[in-house]
Amino acid sequence: MSSRFLHQLTATELRDAFLKGEVKATAIAEHFQARVEKHNPELGAFLSTLGERMLIKAEQLDRKRARNEPLGRLAGIPIAIKDNTHIAGEITTCASKFLENYKAPFDATVVRLLEEEGALLIGKANLDEFAMGSTNENSAYFPVQNPWNLNCVAGGSSGGSAAAVASRMALLATGSDTGGSIRLPASFCGVVGFKPTYGRVSRYGLVAFGSSLDQIGPLATTVEDAALMMEVIGQHCEHDSTSLDLPRETYTKRLDLKDVKLGVSRQFLEGLTPDAKENFEEAQHVLKNLGAKIIDVDLAILKYSVAVYYILATAEASTNLARFDGIRYGKRSKLAKSLEQVYELSRKEGFGREVKRRILLGTYVLSAGYQDAYYKKAQKVRTLMIDAFEKAFSECDAIITPVATSGAFERNAIQDPLQLYLQDIFTIPSNLAGLPTVSVPSGYDKRGMPLGLQIIGPQMCDVPVLDYAYAYAHATGHGAIPKRYNENHS
Ligand code: GLN
Repeated sequence: MSSRFLHQLTATELRDAFLKGEVKATAIAEHFQARVEKHNPELGAFLSTLGERMLIKAEQLDRKRARNEPLGRLAGIPIAIKDNTHIAGEITTCASKFLENYKAPFDATVVRLLEEEGALLIGKANLDEFAMGSTNENSAYFPVQNPWNLNCVAGGSSGGSAAAVASRMALLATGSDTGGSIRLPASFCGVVGFKPTYGRVSRYGLVAFGSSLDQIGPLATTVEDAALMMEVIGQHCEHDSTSLDLPRETYTKRLDLKDVKLGVSRQFLEGLTPDAKENFEEAQHVLKNLGAKIIDVDLAILKYSVAVYYILATAEASTNLARFDGIRYGKRSKLAKSLEQVYELSRKEGFGREVKRRILLGTYVLSAGYQDAYYKKAQKVRTLMIDAFEKAFSECDAIITPVATSGAFERNAIQDPLQLYLQDIFTIPSNLAGLPTVSVPSGYDKRGMPLGLQIIGPQMCDVPVLDYAYAYAHATGHGAIPKRYNENHS
């Protein structure tokens, strides 16, 4: 373990230190709990913590170790869980007032799998309400600050997960990604984020937003740690009808990119800031030096992806959120005097502005008069995009883009919802086509804010995508700890 402090290790290193008996699980739990108490008030990354529960699990792990029992592949690693994912007996708020007292009746499959492998769940991470947003400013409780600059947004919607990992209050986190919610905050906070192939990770116990787009995945300080978590959570689940029944995957640590063809679609890469543009050029240079061949592919059609997404995602959201009616889940208005008012007032009081906007939009595009003009047309364009990707993948192994047009911006800097929606222009296509995609730190802009490189692979090619990212990360070594959180004590 050398002379480093626990939060300066990667998740894999910390687990190994625990397995070798160099550190006790209870010491790990106490160390990270102290960090949360110290840093969370300024960062807002956690909505709630699981300190006592974590300590009990840590004591169990220490007892198991003393008895030489099997400990699991994530033994002793502190992991944050995005608060739209159930932990039995704990509150799942989805960062909404609607669910402020909603106690989860069961464990999400990912939560069960993580704990079976000895993970220490440290807290529920903040998010945009019901995962709708790109900055975490839509949380009904408080926003998340970016650990690289507290005046900047952390990205969204998994901003709490990204900030928790970037500041080393946790060494791994789960996120959910419907249009970029793992990858954008990962890029803004300088950590690794991975959205698996649709169906690779079970959605059972994840509160649904856009069911044909949602996917759970890891946020980590290194590609190796993200791959470790994928080996645990990337499993078939009988509770999720869209779960893929594939053999378990093992990730290799590839060091070069010889014989790998990477596609770039110049027509699609518009609107980059000069810093982001330069950074993407540099990334291509590194990839070429590793042996990759960069070729041009035509994905111009992806410029319609934001338009398509905001029709399909809102349509699915309006249907999924119909269950929050003041009767079955969460909030019930105290002012209601009739059944009609229970529905109306509970939703009025419980949902925030952005959630209401999405429900209205989704209901509109699904209404009888407009379904053909909007919803069905968007589905057709989605199919054209899937075809365009298929054609591109007949010419290359993976596609690269920047994660976003810029690094993290200041809070309240973008007020226009449309401008916020456009932040996801590069991330949304992977959700529309169900593709495995990683966001890996690629350096910094002139203000010192992190930037990210995105690698998109064909469906089921989760392993190659993470392997390419490993080679890139190994060559560049980006992904430092922000100075403020790298101090030599808790
Ligand atoms: N920012 C996108 C949205 O607001 C994506 C969110 C997500 O991936 N959950 O819908």
